[in-house]
Amino acid sequence: MGFELTSEERRRNMAAIRSRDTKPEMIVRRYLFSRGLRYRVSNRKLPGSPDLVLKKYKTVIFIDGCFWHGHAGCTHFHLPATNEKFWRHKIAMNMARDYAANIDLELLGWRVIRIWECEIKTKASREILLPRLYEAIVNAAPFPQSSPSALLAAKSSSPQPENSTPIKALPKPYEDPDIIPPSLAAEPQ
Ligand SMILES: [Zn+2]
Repeated sequence: MGFELTSEERRRNMAAIRSRDTKPEMIVRRYLFSRGLRYRVSNRKLPGSPDLVLKKYKTVIFIDGCFWHGHAGCTHFHLPATNEKFWRHKIAMNMARDYAANIDLELLGWRVIRIWECEIKTKASREILLPRLYEAIVNAAPFPQSSPSALLAAKSSSPQPENSTPIKALPKPYEDPDIIPPSLAAEPQ
């Protein structure tokens, strides 16, 4: 039984990724604002266009959608059954871009925090994650990802929590024998 996006769902997904004021991002923004933090949103001058930029703390935050950013092992991450190779390639490219943005930002002296959308999906998960995020920003506390992507796990210098989900990384784009026509590989945005 395969998971399949209808064209309507796919269109909505693409609209959601384009929109900068998506709901999960607003949840994070509202919380941090209520705790007195001030930030700029979607700064396109910085690598990867971070969702939130806290200049005072030299910290940037991304709120990553689990599908588009390839949250390995996440229940919200299923490759569509149709055109699976295309989606696998597309998401691997997104992950590679995220990784490059992380490195570029760190080289510029920014601390990069990435949050998965599923981590703020329920009230219970928000109550755990958001205060932890605040501490991470203000007191430079470590910010362990509950189930990190393969990329962040490889990059992170701090040990991952023992209960983190095993990582099933997508194959690298260059390991995929099928070459995707440039027209298909074009950005949806
Ligand atoms: Zn997720």
